This record gives sequence, C-alpha cells and structure tokens, in this order.
Amino acid sequence: MREYKNFIDGRFVEGPEAFADIDPATGRQVAWVHEADAGLVDRAVASARAALEGAWGRSTVAERCSLLRRVADEIDRRADDLLAAEVADTGKPEAGARALDVARAAANFRSFADIMAAEGVESFLQDLPAGQQALNYALRKPLGVVAAIVPWNLPLLLLTWKVAPAIACGNAIVVKPSEETPGSATVLAEILDAAGVPSGVYNVVHGFGAGSAGQHLTTHPDVDGVTFTGSTATGAGIMRAVAPRVRPVSFELGGKNAAVVFADADLDETIAGLTRSIFANTGQVCLCTERVYIERPIFEEVSARLVDAAQKLRLGAPADPATTTGPVISHGHQQKVLDYVELARRSGATLLTGGEPATVGDELAGGFWVEPTLWTGLGNDDRVMREEVFGPVAGLVPFDTESEAVALANDTDYGLAAAVWTTDLRRAHRVAGRMEVGIAWVNTWFTRELRSPFGGFGLSGVGREGGRHSLDFYTETTNVCVAL
Ligand code: NAD
Repeated sequence: MREYKNFIDGRFVEGPEAFADIDPATGRQVAWVHEADAGLVDRAVASARAALEGAWGRSTVAERCSLLRRVADEIDRRADDLLAAEVADTGKPEAGARALDVARAAANFRSFADIMAAEGVESFLQDLPAGQQALNYALRKPLGVVAAIVPWNLPLLLLTWKVAPAIACGNAIVVKPSEETPGSATVLAEILDAAGVPSGVYNVVHGFGAGSAGQHLTTHPDVDGVTFTGSTATGAGIMRAVAPRVRPVSFELGGKNAAVVFADADLDETIAGLTRSIFANTGQVCLCTERVYIERPIFEEVSARLVDAAQKLRLGAPADPATTTGPVISHGHQQKVLDYVELARRSGATLLTGGEPATVGDELAGGFWVEPTLWTGLGNDDRVMREEVFGPVAGLVPFDTESEAVALANDTDYGLAAAVWTTDLRRAHRVAGRMEVGIAWVNTWFTRELRSPFGGFGLSGVGREGGRHSLDFYTETTNVCVAL
C-alpha cells in the first residue's frame, strides 16, 4: 500500500496519525496518508520562512524562470507517475487526465516562466511644481510565506496554478491538498526537488479542514497570505479566520453556471459543447454548466439531443480508452448529488434521463457512480436551481427573449462562468458582455488563456488569478519615488 507523507524542508515526514485514501472508482483504499498536526504545520511554515531568509530570498527572476522550466520538463518526464496518483485518487478517465490535468501542470510552470520573464517595472515620471520632476517605480517583492488550500476536483491543475506563480514571484509555499486527493501534490514534491527547488520553498501538509492541517495552516500567525480554491462555505470560514491578521487572500469559490442557447446556434457544435460543459469531469468542475436556458423554438430538439448525448456517455474504468466519465469523488458526495436530484423531483422536476446511482460492472461495484442526469420543469426560484450541486446534472429551462435569457442567467448569487451559444455576431458580444461572471464564453467552454484574468463575482470568489493578476496576488510592491 502506498504511503503519502508530509513534505517539510525538503524531506518526507510522517505524521502522528494516518488516514485512508480511497479510489472512488472502486471504493477501495489505495494509500495511507500521514496527517500533519499543528506541530508539523509549524515546522512547514518555519521551513518556508527560513528559505525566504536564506539564498532563495535573494534569487533572481532569471534563476526562478529557468527553475520553473526545469520543473515543467521534470513533470513531462514523470507524467506517468503523476497520472497514476491522480487517477487513483479521482477515478478520472486516464486519457483525459493525461491530456488535461498533467499537461496543464507543465503548462502552468512554463506559462508563469514566460509571464515573469516578460514582466517590466511599472514607472511614472511625475511633474512637480517649479519644473522639477520625480521618478516613481514600483518594485515587486515576494508576498512571503503563502498558504495554498486546494480542492479535489482538479487537484494537480489547481495546485500548480498556485505553486507556479508563487515560485515565479520568489515566495515559499505550504500547500494543503484535499484529504480526498493527496497523491499528486506528494509526487510533485519529488518533482520539484529533482528540478532543484530549494528545501523549504515547497512544503506539503496533509489532512482535513477544521481542527486539522487546513485550519492550522490558515490560522498560522506566520503565514503572509492565503490562496484558497474550494467551496464558498469553506472560503467564508477561512476569510473569517484570516481577517484578524489582515492578510491578503485569494478565493476561487463555487459556481452555478448558466449556458444560454439561442435558436440561431450551430446545434451540432452546441450539443457537443453543452455535453462537455455539463458532464466534463463528471460535472465536478467549478465552471461546469448546471443551468441551461434554451430559446423556446429549439427547446424540445436541444433537450432530446442532450438526453441522447448524456445516454451515450460511457461510465467505466479509468484505463479503458472508451470511458468518457468517471465516478464522483466520494460516497458522501455521491449522496449529496443524489439528494439534490431527489430535491429536484420533490420540487416538481421532470427527469429526462438519469437520476440514480449508476451500476458499472462488478469490478467497479463499490465505486461512487452517478448517472448523467437532466431535468426540466424547474425555474430560478427552485433551490436546486440556485445551489451548486457539483455533479453530472443540469436543469433545462426555455426562454422567449434575449433580455429574459440575460436576466435568467444573471439571477444567481454566484458569478463564475457562462457560455453563450449563437451564430449572431452582434448578439454574441452583446450577451457575453452582459453576463455578470468572471469568464463568459461564446461558442466554446473551458478554453483557457493562462494570461487572462480568472475569478468570480459574488459568491464565486474574491480577486483574480491568471497572468499578471496572479503576480499581483503573489507580490507586495514598494513604490520608490525619487526627486530628480
Ligand atoms: P471544500 O471547500 O470542501 O474543500 C477545499 C479545501 O479546503 C480542502 O483541501 C479542505 O480540506 C480544505 N478545508 C476545509 N475546511 C477547511 C478549514 N476550516 N480551514 C482550512 N481548510 C479547510 O471544497 P471541495 O469539496 O474540496 O471542492 C469543491 C468546491 O470547490 C466546489 O464548490 C467548487 O466549485 C470549488 N472549486 C472552485 C474553483 C474555482 O476556481 N472557482 C475551482 C475548483 C473547485
């Protein structure tokens, strides 16, 4: 049985207790995970601080950028190990995980090497009275010891999205992976070490949230900033925990994302896109569509074609190339998703397909499978159309006018992402621009340019990541003002 240990000051360290890591495809244990207590979290934070106070604190941008590129090369070299850890923890189809999760991990390091290398110094020449001038320039400095808390849905992708910019900016980081998915963060420790990342710059503490490593880390007095990706409820708690120390925070939280389908849309492209946006990663992407608004003349046709596409998805073993869809992450999450489906039924929904735990053969009988599920008959006043389910489910709703569609899509407490499906150029820009979300896609979904801003309105988060936005979070700036 594999063991995942904490990684502190360049060494793997056992915890006082261990918990089981379960493969959601089978329900069987795949590893023991060493939980970090408050003492180990202390040691991790202290080692990060020591790294900052040592040679790492004097590293140059050029040195850090070449380090990031070596990390990316090492990720490519160890792709199979990362893939194995990620798939054992999540049950994701292997082909998709190789193409997305592992490939994006390397891309995150390469992108932030490019972004950092191209970064200039913001400066202003200021006119003063009596013809004098002053030169202002802003020096970026590392934020310091960064705590990163990540969820289980895209564990490696989201982790490297934080580690790469943190290192690019010269920080030292302590990460707390999700208790559901400890594997890839641990393999990443070996990779960073092999690439030459100095001891103390990347630390991993394993465990849970409240009363465990997550809480110990976010409330630690020597942490200079917290970057969190996870649910809105957890984020709000962490916000309260960090507030007394007034530290910078970045929060990427939940969503209840809409898709808007106009009658002029290219339906083949739209059905393929919606099938991805509803069911990718078994609906466990913060950007997944859970509300689909469809212009009334094409409502029946789009609904029927989506049902057909949902029924063609192949749930199965991660290694089987025919598998399109994996399990949900845990027994508890399976129950939560099915409870929401039950709530939809009780609220008067008509189930078009799915709605039950899926049966996927003997080998996978103990896994946490949910049928791809679509319903209709509910509106924005129904609770299940307002709360994030985070599973392979969506509600389909007809609309009559463009302004009604915009109002329905924006009628949410969240504001992460939206997708607009239309071939009308002017409408595409008009409607996308009116979406109150961090990212509005037109005729596509999940297309990510890593230099562009990423984040959410409302309950979906605080701050932006991506490109220079990440640099803004991972640095403090000193404006130097020189009278000339
Ligand atoms: P979660 O909030 O339950 O857990 C996220 C992380 O927080 C885990 O590592 C967990 O151990 C830790 N945690 C829990 N309580 C804590 C506490 N009191 N103190 C410190 N850490 C604590 O979320 P999840 O179920 O792992 O992930 C799914 C959620 O993440 C969904 O809501 C999804 O929308 C969101 N998400 C958002 C984005 C985004 O970019 N906006 C991306 C992916 C996932």
